Amino acid sequence: MSDENSNPLEGFPVECLEIKNLCEKIVSYYPNADIELVQKAYLFSKQAHEGQFRRSGEPYISHPVGVAEILADLKLDLPTIMTGLLHDTVEDTEVTLEDVSKNFGTVVSELVDGVTKITQLSFRNTHDKQSENVRKMIVAMGKDVRVILVKLADRLHNMRTLGHMKYEKQIRIGQETLDIYAPLASRLGISSIKIELEDLSFRYTQPDRYYELVQKVAKKKKEREKYIEEVKKILEQDLEGEFKGEYDIQGRPKHFYSIYKKMAASNLDYEQVYDLLAFRILVDTIPHCYEVLGHIHTLFKPVPGRFKDYIAIPKANNYRSLHTTVIGPGAERIEIQIRTKEMHLIAESGIAAHWKYKNSGKVDIKLEEQMEWLQELVSLHQQSGSSGEFLENVKTDLFDSHIYVFTPKGEVREFREGATPIDFAYAIHTDVGNSCVAARLNGKMVPLRTKMKSGDTVEVLTSKNKTPSKDWLKYCVTSKAKSRIRAFVQEEERKRAREIGADLLEKEFRKYGMSVAKLLSDEVIMDNEELRKSGANDLEDLYVRIGYGKVLPRQVVKALEPEAESVDEKITEDSFLSKAYKSAVQRKKKSRSIISVDGMDDILVRFAKCCTPIPGDPIKGFISRGRGITIHKSDCEKIFAIDNDRSVDVEWTVKSAPEGVERTVRIRVVAQDIPGLLKMMSDVFASLGINIFNAQIRTTKDRKAVCMFDVAVKDTSQLTKAIQNLSKIKGILGVTRMTQI
Ligand code: MN
Repeated sequence: MSDENSNPLEGFPVECLEIKNLCEKIVSYYPNADIELVQKAYLFSKQAHEGQFRRSGEPYISHPVGVAEILADLKLDLPTIMTGLLHDTVEDTEVTLEDVSKNFGTVVSELVDGVTKITQLSFRNTHDKQSENVRKMIVAMGKDVRVILVKLADRLHNMRTLGHMKYEKQIRIGQETLDIYAPLASRLGISSIKIELEDLSFRYTQPDRYYELVQKVAKKKKEREKYIEEVKKILEQDLEGEFKGEYDIQGRPKHFYSIYKKMAASNLDYEQVYDLLAFRILVDTIPHCYEVLGHIHTLFKPVPGRFKDYIAIPKANNYRSLHTTVIGPGAERIEIQIRTKEMHLIAESGIAAHWKYKNSGKVDIKLEEQMEWLQELVSLHQQSGSSGEFLENVKTDLFDSHIYVFTPKGEVREFREGATPIDFAYAIHTDVGNSCVAARLNGKMVPLRTKMKSGDTVEVLTSKNKTPSKDWLKYCVTSKAKSRIRAFVQEEERKRAREIGADLLEKEFRKYGMSVAKLLSDEVIMDNEELRKSGANDLEDLYVRIGYGKVLPRQVVKALEPEAESVDEKITEDSFLSKAYKSAVQRKKKSRSIISVDGMDDILVRFAKCCTPIPGDPIKGFISRGRGITIHKSDCEKIFAIDNDRSVDVEWTVKSAPEGVERTVRIRVVAQDIPGLLKMMSDVFASLGINIFNAQIRTTKDRKAVCMFDVAVKDTSQLTKAIQNLSKIKGILGVTRMTQI
């Protein structure tokens, strides 16, 4: 066993000299590390990659070693570093996962498996594929964050050696890094990797701009160093008295990509951009941070609005620091960050820093929060309808800027910009979200769709009777709120469809003198071949399918009693009804998407003949037994006779009916009986692309012509246009839309 004084690297095996540097790094933060394991992983990987070469001409093993060194710089645990050494073996060599597992245990083999899976995702250009890849990546990393740390190190090493690749590949990989990996590193708080990835991507995606900037920065190097020294001296003179060497001042230019972004955002040249230098003061305790801040604001004039307290209110990725911008010597703006050494460690290596603490048994609550964020993404992936939708959510969670608001108890909650009290409510608890009705921002009542601002105190009012509405999706931004609302709405739609389906089926059965209760059960459905074809697993499921219009009640009757005949007395009317029903179903197949019922797109609807609504008309829906939902214009006289209990909220899902499903309306034109008028009228329709189905003309005793046109229109604006243009024809006395056909 190792005693404290022995050098763990004594007698370092010759065949492992390539990783001596790596092992020295490891023992520097983990003196008791079992270095032999690292050596074993190295030799295993080296043998597997034997005969393979990097584009640079170097043996392939140089890459895994480079990756492992990056991981050691982050001071990660042994399984992670071993995974760095082994990460390409399963992907690129004969080695199998079982081999890795046999030699290095399941922890390492699972990590290697995770990295392999991400590596196999090829980020092609098409949007869909990329979404799918990111989705898989998030899932892979959700299981064990170390997977993504290895992947980030892998990407960083590949970026460092990207110069050996072809130009097109440099652009593609650089862009992908800028799009996905750098923001991911940033979200996980690993700023050292984020900064390097950004600068490398910048260099390969926009080489001209990059090198131009590098030159300009280099030109001013002397000047800048002198300036940094000058500021340091002023700061030291002031701080020494009170802090006696218990502080560390660092000054540096900001990284190229951040300067470039600044220039691009404000459209300025390098010479015009101020605020290029950043100073950092590291101290021992939080009170010292604020004391140092006091000193700085006494020494230099602070720029108003630039002070940020990320100690009291940490960033989403757990970054903590004080930021201020002051007017330094020579009226130059300088940014100064003040933080403790511990905060600095976390600022540099983010979630990776926490990983180390976790090994020592100290689980940081913030780490749990970050893990929660990852878990949330994974569960979101399971609920998202499409990869595109998922990617949108992930991207917004990853990339957008954040606001901080307070609960009434004074706790800080963090949201993406644009978040509303709905997001806030769901962040507190799903039940709070599901029942919120209104909010108070800083004591003032506001609608739920109001956007919150940093510093707002937010209070949510709930009501037992309130449920989420589909509209809320428009007003919330967090993936949690969105997925919860969607789940609720879907469940409501299902319940509603079930109700409608049960209703329709009961009615249909009655027509044949049959009874649902007597004839149908879960068992009957399982045993009936025809019914099983409908896809229904049980009675509830069957109701839902009927409600969604996927199964016709008639099919169910036929499946049970192929010879069944209608027993309704009103045979003629009934067969008419069933015809109307069929054509309604057929129409519905086409029109299902132009009407939504209570937010559902999938419900059987028919349009009332009495008022023939067209897109653009205000409408109301009524449940009519046996015929699904009937849509009336909201000013239709017929609806006053209908029981209001049957009304449902409906709305057009389109501004105008798509081609092939135009709505028919009747237009009445009264004109003087002049030859050629009919041609002029039909020209008006033709010029607007309106089809005439039917036209009737009669002349009255006083030599007037009354024409009825049945025409197919897309929407009210097309109809209005037609009526206006008809009215302009000389000799036309009046044009009206008929309420009835
Ligand atoms: Mn690799």
